[in-house]
Amino acid sequence: PGPPLFADAAGDIALSFEFFPPKTEKMEAQLWESIKTLEPLAPRFVSVTYGAGGSTRERTHATVARIVRETALTPAAHLTCVAATKGEIDDIAREYWAAGVRHIVALRGDPPEAGQAYATHPGGYADAAALVEGLKKVAPFDISVAAYPECHPDSASRAADLDNLKRKIDAGADRAITQFFFSAECFLRFRDEAAAAGIDAEIVPGILPVSNVAQTRKFAALCGATIPQWMDRLFEGLDDLPDARKLVAATVAAELCAQLYAGGVRHFHFYTLNRAELAYAICHLLGVRPGGKSQEQAA
Ligand code: FAD
Repeated sequence: PGPPLFADAAGDIALSFEFFPPKTEKMEAQLWESIKTLEPLAPRFVSVTYGAGGSTRERTHATVARIVRETALTPAAHLTCVAATKGEIDDIAREYWAAGVRHIVALRGDPPEAGQAYATHPGGYADAAALVEGLKKVAPFDISVAAYPECHPDSASRAADLDNLKRKIDAGADRAITQFFFSAECFLRFRDEAAAAGIDAEIVPGILPVSNVAQTRKFAALCGATIPQWMDRLFEGLDDLPDARKLVAATVAAELCAQLYAGGVRHFHFYTLNRAELAYAICHLLGVRPGGKSQEQAA
């Protein structure tokens, strides 16, 4: 038998980490401990989500501003079209630019109640492509957009979804970050289909290390991601063993990353859920070392 799948990674990997704005002081402390733990891995950027319905506008801004003040990291602020006019969104973008924030993750967002059809706010941006176009008029932001290896649930077809992604890139987006997925083949096929559709921007896989299948299942149902049956089987009997669940989660995600690496992927975006441990361990398995030192240099 050969070495483990991830043993070949050569320290040539770029990272980004996603966080959500904390609601309480305790959650804030947890977030900052995570940011400080992950900072030495020198991610390309760290992003901060924007709550459904624009509900975290101030908290997203405050978190991003603190990252600018207290770290050497490059922050990316998520921004959605929901519940705001174009003018209001443009003002938020101007505030970010003035605060030194140069990267926006531009999204349409979801309707306030799950299951409802999406309706554009009167005077608002109609979709993510329109938002990208608007942001580019405000300032020359670096812009990431969302992509869906398993197709967005609102999309008529895979082709229509790819066409929508192309509109976002053509409007000026620099890269796409994907919804989470659990099959390397699914991502690599999507990447190849995107290239065949004339999308030349980088497509960065969004990696969600799963240690709680039930919770992930709820979220996946809303966003059209599939949880494979093997995942259920893998976590069977571990309900009362949180540490074992974490080890399994890291192993599964590291193997997915290793397969993607073998398929040519060199940038991984981690959904951290504000916890550093899993992402840190997976990055370590992939040969990433603090200060950008590669596995070989570290040896
Ligand atoms: P869009 O790209 O605008 O499109 C969504 C769907 O609608 C596509 O299927 C598209 O084909 C269809 N569509 C769009 N415009 C048209 C049109 N004019 N005609 C016909 N069909 C159209 N949500 C948050 O609220 N806050 C966040 O911080 C957040 N961060 C995210 C980060 C990532 C990496 C990802 C993948 C998703 C994130 N989301 C976030 C979720 C996102 O807001 C939802 O998935 C939302 O339903 C779609 O957003 P989008 O930007 O992909 O929309």
